[in-house]
Amino acid sequence: MLGIIFVTGGVVSGLGKGIVAASIGKILQARGYDISMVKLDPYLNPDPGTMNPVEHGEIFVTEDVWIFSPSESVSFQIAEIDEDFGHYERFLGKYMHPSNNITSGQVMLQVILGERRGVYLGQTVRLIPHVVDEIKRRIIEVAKRENPDFLIVELGGTIGDYEAESFVEALRQIRAERKSLHVHVTYVPYLRSTGELKTKPAQTFIRLANAAGLPPDAIVVRSDRDLGIDVLRKISLYSGVPLDSIFPDPDRENVYEVPLILEEKGLGRRIEKFFGLEERKAELDSWREAIREGEKELTVGIVSKYWRMHDVHISINEAVKHAASAINCRAKIKMVDASSPDLDGLDGVILAPGFGVKGTEGMIDAAKRAMEEKIPTLGICFGAQLSTVAFARHIMGWDGANSTELDPDTPYPVVDMLPEQVGVKEKGGTMRLGAHEVLIIPGTRLMDAYGESIVKERFRHRYHISRKYAELMEERGYKISAVDRTGRIINAFEISWHPFFVGVQFHPEYKSRPGKPSPVYLAFMKSVLEHS
Ligand code: GLN
Repeated sequence: MLGIIFVTGGVVSGLGKGIVAASIGKILQARGYDISMVKLDPYLNPDPGTMNPVEHGEIFVTEDVWIFSPSESVSFQIAEIDEDFGHYERFLGKYMHPSNNITSGQVMLQVILGERRGVYLGQTVRLIPHVVDEIKRRIIEVAKRENPDFLIVELGGTIGDYEAESFVEALRQIRAERKSLHVHVTYVPYLRSTGELKTKPAQTFIRLANAAGLPPDAIVVRSDRDLGIDVLRKISLYSGVPLDSIFPDPDRENVYEVPLILEEKGLGRRIEKFFGLEERKAELDSWREAIREGEKELTVGIVSKYWRMHDVHISINEAVKHAASAINCRAKIKMVDASSPDLDGLDGVILAPGFGVKGTEGMIDAAKRAMEEKIPTLGICFGAQLSTVAFARHIMGWDGANSTELDPDTPYPVVDMLPEQVGVKEKGGTMRLGAHEVLIIPGTRLMDAYGESIVKERFRHRYHISRKYAELMEERGYKISAVDRTGRIINAFEISWHPFFVGVQFHPEYKSRPGKPSPVYLAFMKSVLEHS
């Protein structure tokens, strides 16, 4: 390994630090280096799977399921991961292992259960050294297992967060032991009342980083507008970081341009110099080609109870954009309130994943209208389940049909709990998770989309479409288009008399990349283009 790069944030969270970290990975990857990423999350949940996405953003699902076993008698499945992993996978085009997301919850479980086993016999177990050592061990474990040229380690939250102190200390210690570069991502707000850009919050957070023994080597400055040289000079003056190591990164519509901007501003060269490497050319032409958007705009509505929050469905947003670019269009995403869905002016509809009763009658109604009005529609997981409910109620005439998640006493349980989930009481990491085989049935739109009969896609669910009812619905044009290897789980369906109405139990968005869109999304967007 050539080195470790830490990425920390200051001023506010939600800065796009994950995009910066992924972009740094991209510009090094474009030089031929092998990159891996680690995300440190200081919260006490072992993984974000049980969190409200409104607070935390999307829950990303990895290809692999990691069995985290902090003690012989205790183990958890981990495949539900921080949304930054989505950026890492999309920018770097590789699968990230779930154990690369290190949370305080995991670290604490490991240390405390270790203490009970006698790992620390005779010692008082403390944050320093024991917890900090465990964090360091986990980071170094990734470095050893993957042996990349560069390991990029992003710290969640901001420097100075009370709960992040052990992580900051771990980074400080690693820095003393191994060649590492610290990139700090800061924010410069614009004050409308005085018409000024303000650097004081940035200064304060850089001082906190210095006080923690983690002075930045380079600073990326986020802002909602272009920054003049004066602002950058001021940050340089107060931080002691030379001006050539300060990189402005104003908001832009297409986040995939961030690697291009940072490369153009010289961040890649700066990193090479820091690590004493010879200059290499960053090969970013194919990336530039992959992220190019066309002129024609296609409006896609995402019907969700989380319609106020853009980030909750970020992988879906990105998958729609990748597919739009691939057909030389650009996507305009409209978030549609699931409680009172308005489908007017939409070229295509996505019925979003989700849990719980809120907004579901509206989603079922939206599915019904999309069927009737022949609007191209893609139902993802919960969206596929609720579309099945809509079909059962409105095409089959089965009044009161529902998912047992929403109505346990429904006369037509067209969506029911997976048999192996019955009796599962614990909530964390207990759903059907990670990538599973999807067997596609010939002669379906799904088969046209994938062009192969066995693919792997990622899942996160407790319920599934009942085979018994689905087979009855086939009479009226509900077509089962994919199953699992046992034939018991319906992985996808489509409506034969509709131009494009496809429901998938899996989440194809997690594997979509710029220049390599998900086949399902690509087929959907082609139909959206036709419909527009
Ligand atoms: N709530 C549904 C289930 O558990 C759908 C989950 C989802 O959309 N990811 O099966």
